[in-house]
Amino acid sequence: MTDNGISYSAHGWDATPPADRLPALKGQLTCDVAVIGGGYTGMATALRLAERGADVVLLESGFCGCGASSRNAGQLSSAPAGDPQLLSTLHPRRFRDIVRFGEGAARFTEGMIERLGIDCEYEATGNVGAAISAGQLRKAERNARILRKAGADVEFGGGRELGLPEGFRGGYLERAGGHLDPGKFALGLRGALLASSTRVFEETPAGGVYPDSNGVTVTVPRGRLRAERVVLATNAYSRDLLISPKRMVSPVWAHEVETAPIGHERLEAIGWTSRAGIITQHNLLENYRPTARGTIVFGVRQLKLGRGTVRDREPDRAVVADLVRGFHDRFPSLRDIAPRRAWGGWVAMTPPWLPVAGEAARNVFYAAGYNGHGLAQAPYLGTLLADRLAGDAPHEDLGALWRARPRFAPTPVSSPLTLRAGWAVDRLADRLSKRLPPRGNGRSHRQ
Ligand SMILES: Cc1cc2nc3c(=O)[nH]c(=O)nc-3n(C[C@H](O)[C@H](O)[C@H](O)COP(=O)(O)OP(=O)(O)OC[C@H]3O[C@@H](n4cnc5c(N)ncnc54)[C@H](O)[C@@H]3O)c2cc1C
Repeated sequence: MTDNGISYSAHGWDATPPADRLPALKGQLTCDVAVIGGGYTGMATALRLAERGADVVLLESGFCGCGASSRNAGQLSSAPAGDPQLLSTLHPRRFRDIVRFGEGAARFTEGMIERLGIDCEYEATGNVGAAISAGQLRKAERNARILRKAGADVEFGGGRELGLPEGFRGGYLERAGGHLDPGKFALGLRGALLASSTRVFEETPAGGVYPDSNGVTVTVPRGRLRAERVVLATNAYSRDLLISPKRMVSPVWAHEVETAPIGHERLEAIGWTSRAGIITQHNLLENYRPTARGTIVFGVRQLKLGRGTVRDREPDRAVVADLVRGFHDRFPSLRDIAPRRAWGGWVAMTPPWLPVAGEAARNVFYAAGYNGHGLAQAPYLGTLLADRLAGDAPHEDLGALWRARPRFAPTPVSSPLTLRAGWAVDRLADRLSKRLPPRGNGRSHRQ
């Protein structure tokens, strides 16, 4: 739907549903491993298991990649999701392992893009945890210190040193990673999956998952599947399957917007010479990245909590308008640039603020919950889980996230009011920072 020159859609990017949509599963089938969910996690799991010689069936309720995997902002980040200070406090003993997992994930996914020859406009620019105020610059410096101490390859610097647009004062560059077109990445993974021995059924929602002493039965609307083992790769949608661990994920709806074409020269003229992706240090982050087609994609800033069964939504006009206000504040010299497309998707938050993997019930495994950093982490975690199911000793990065029991504490993201308050505090801080004279951009902050 188009409104005020903006087209609003649930799906992002150029990832229009593939023309070769696969038929639903009808009747009865058996296999070694059934993977439920065809996002990055499920596709990577199935692909690796097929490469390792397993007989795999993947069930996807829409088409492969139709969830968060084709709707995200495209920033392939190597840092853990969430505030590093909070994470290092919540997980003091595991923090180093978590940081290692994040960097391993970015390197793995970069390698996967290359190995599978996926043309998804990947630019290995790194991403910057960037500051728009003096307060955020202090926070970024602290975060850089915490991450470096845990072994991360990050560099703190001023805005000009890091090649950031005017208006961003500096921040920490995560050197590993970069950005890409997520829809093209999802469709590329889908192409590789279809070329493998995996039997893929789209338009096939799994209804029930029933383990017994000999294996697992999965029911679908017009048939059933018998598997030795099952992998739940349903991420933010996991609550709809009764077998998923209770409280494992809280779905939150996030928006993204793409501008009209701006042109590479103009982006360079505003100082964005590094083309690195940007994530601000707000409570509810703002993300910005340049695209290969000379536009900017930006988003988040507000999150809406999902209740009950999660369904697609139309992007919220008020949230999109707020995002556009934020874009014009951060890029004052681009006030003439209008938004063109807006979309949204479900992000899966977890109680420990980390991705999680484990065994939900006998022979039923799960990998999910990337808290907004699944672009690198989901393909990696899915692959590590597949290797474990294929008989390998668990990789140390899988061990860092493995849950001995499928039990989860109540989520910290439990109330719409908390999310609204986070947004309000961010806007107040923005207003206060505007009253202070700008400084810092271009000064040397190298550590
Ligand atoms: C707006 C937005 C911006 C984001 N930005 C970034 C970013 O810049 N960088 C980053 O790293 N991450 C980002 N993310 C997060 C990232 O997209 C996800 O972490 C990642 O795509 C998760 O992949 P997944 O396969 O686990 O989940 P999904 O892609 O959601 O896949 C789950 C799949 O399971 C299917 N399914 C669900 N239930 C069933 C069932 N019962 N039967 C069969 N199939 C089922 C769904 O249809 C879906 O296709 C963003 C997410 C959103 C929504």
